[in-house]
Amino acid sequence: MARLVVEHKTTSSDITPGSTYWRKLTLDTQVSQYLGATEGVEGMLYDVIRKPGIKPFKATPAESRKYTKAGTLYAAQRERDETPEEFSVRLRADISEGPNKYYARGIIVRLPSERTEAARDTWLVAGSIRESMRLDAWPRNPGSCDAYGRTCDYWAVCAGETTIEDATRFRTAETPHEELPGIVHRLPLLSNSAMSAYRACPRKYLYSYVQRRRPIVTPHALTFGTLIHAGLEVWWSSVDLGATLAAVQGAPDPFDVVRAEELLRGYHARWSEEEIRVLAVEKPFVAPLINPETGAASRTFELAGKCDAIAEVNP
Ligand code: SF4
Repeated sequence: MARLVVEHKTTSSDITPGSTYWRKLTLDTQVSQYLGATEGVEGMLYDVIRKPGIKPFKATPAESRKYTKAGTLYAAQRERDETPEEFSVRLRADISEGPNKYYARGIIVRLPSERTEAARDTWLVAGSIRESMRLDAWPRNPGSCDAYGRTCDYWAVCAGETTIEDATRFRTAETPHEELPGIVHRLPLLSNSAMSAYRACPRKYLYSYVQRRRPIVTPHALTFGTLIHAGLEVWWSSVDLGATLAAVQGAPDPFDVVRAEELLRGYHARWSEEEIRVLAVEKPFVAPLINPETGAASRTFELAGKCDAIAEVNP
């Protein structure tokens, strides 16, 4: 069996074999960083769930409704919104008809030469961050303001509509890495998320990781990903469907609860018979940031992150 880091993802992208989603992982910095920082693993099990493309039906606006001579609505029109229960039945049928559209796993490895090149990238990005801090220089990158299909959290600040002190939009995080509570470290931490933020836009890194100003309202894509993640954490600890479904009951939107329930129900059906030995769940790590040219450890930063799981898998 191969010992692997496990990483869960939810996405709206096509995840079928050969899709761009998988090709992009060749250069994925999180894969490289986690494999470089975790001792004794051969690769990463990338465990992906695709978010449902189907949406709850809405009632046809009253002014647009058309009726047959028999007095019934035209077939494609509706008197009322679809209920969460009705949507649940429809979503479950869609998942059952095409599970490969919703669930995919792949083992990602890095050759020694790829690990060295990724380590060099990491070292250079860390050096750029250190230089930005030394000079207090955080250039903006307008090319990133609309990346990933949504507007940057700090758009209103950079556009001059508000300031980063605006307490109605931003709060101050207790630590730069709230996702790594209680982690013990000697030096300031660099997570993959932090480095991705700096790569995307140094100004974004300043707001998010130096000033620790975080948006008060979290985008739906992130809250739904967090909900699924909560369910997967329980599933990987127990392989208990009932406990997994119980973990996703708190979401304010009942349709999000239905989406999460049905996705996790399908996940259980798809993967529960796989031969996997789970060694750890939600395992944080701190590792030295190494200069790949000299082998010396950075005196400025340590690398940190959290593996969703470590497992032994039959490849
Ligand atoms: S922080 Fe950077 S990416 Fe975000 S809005 Fe400002 S310039 Fe754009």
